[in-house]
Amino acid sequence: MSHAADLNTPLEFRSHAPGYWPETAMGHWHDARWQLRHRVDTLAGLEERLVLSDVERAGVLLAGHKLAMSITPHFFNLIDREDPDCPIRRQVIPRLEEGWTAPEELADPCGEDSHMPVPGLVHRYPDRVLFLVTDRCASYCRYCTRSRVVSGVGEQHLETQWEAAFRYLERTPQVRDVLLSGGDPLLFTDDRLDRVLTRLRAIPHIQFVRIGTRIPIFLPQRITPALCAMLRKHHPLFISIHTNHPRELTSEVRDALGRLADAGIPLGNQSVLLRGVNDSVAVQRALVQKLLMCRVRPYYLYQCDLINGSAHLRTPVADGIAIIDGLRGHTTGYAVPQFVIDGPGGGGKIPLNPEYIIDTAPGKVTLRNYEGEVFEYPDPSQPPAAELRELLDKCTASAAAGR
Ligand SMILES: *Cc1c(COP(=O)(O)O)cnc(C)c1O
Repeated sequence: MSHAADLNTPLEFRSHAPGYWPETAMGHWHDARWQLRHRVDTLAGLEERLVLSDVERAGVLLAGHKLAMSITPHFFNLIDREDPDCPIRRQVIPRLEEGWTAPEELADPCGEDSHMPVPGLVHRYPDRVLFLVTDRCASYCRYCTRSRVVSGVGEQHLETQWEAAFRYLERTPQVRDVLLSGGDPLLFTDDRLDRVLTRLRAIPHIQFVRIGTRIPIFLPQRITPALCAMLRKHHPLFISIHTNHPRELTSEVRDALGRLADAGIPLGNQSVLLRGVNDSVAVQRALVQKLLMCRVRPYYLYQCDLINGSAHLRTPVADGIAIIDGLRGHTTGYAVPQFVIDGPGGGGKIPLNPEYIIDTAPGKVTLRNYEGEVFEYPDPSQPPAAELRELLDKCTASAAAGR
């Protein structure tokens, strides 16, 4: 029932600690290394705390060969034991359906492997690159678009060629924007991340660096003052976080995001639209409004990629468009993300919007607003030459009279 409660109290930021770990000293709880060491990553560990369905138990066994299961205690605590359809549970606990590959699904849905000039560096757009710096995360999302390499248990492995990647960036001046992702770059130690950022910052044509990370959500304990002090040396630096459900924005997460924002780092959020997790206007509205309270601007809402074994989590494209229609105009403009599909096979992000143009005719468009009211907007009229000449004569005459 806490699913419904979240919607009634969307502005509530609360801690769920220590939850399923009642014996833990708070000093340990707030230590990122303790959280990582105590991740739930075995069937036994999971069953100690939750009653699993047969479908989940089979999913956990499958996961060992596909995409590992791993859940930080912090994030695990958001699971509602009483709710078999808990939106947190569906994101991180494997299910049997992951073992079924739909005909439309792909191992590399965004065609990244065919756009790598150097292993680990995806260069698809003219002026920016995606730099895959690690294959590990604090916890694993069951719909991971990079499950072919992430977590290290599948057949394919990420083999980032560090020196070759830096040399490619140094000799490719059209790259002005580098996005660090993976895996999760914030799993690196402060020193290691500092070295990567320093090397990138030494390249004069790289204007803009950003980090894609779910660590503030999975492991807010990692967002230490020391990390923030290191990151702020590398401005302009942006961070894109990944939040899907308002319950993920706990008081610890809000405080961690506040530390990043206080370090001058603009924060955006990327959500994946997931069936049974966040596929309603009510959940999305609560999420985006809470994000603004955490000083995070909703950036993209992704249609779930066609990753192998994700059919049970995907939604029809029309659902995402309907969600945007239910947000735009109804809430703060800053709160409305851009809905996108990453073109299957490597088309890049394609924006999808509700249709606001009802009709186009020569000289005008017919529009509807968020409430369905209809408006006409005409193209600009051209002033007739004769009227312009008359106006010019009048101006000239009055200027002469005033002299
Ligand atoms: C998403 C993505 C980017 C960044 O795209 P933006 O629209 O600038 O956020 C860059 N490269 C690749 C390969 C991507 O998938």
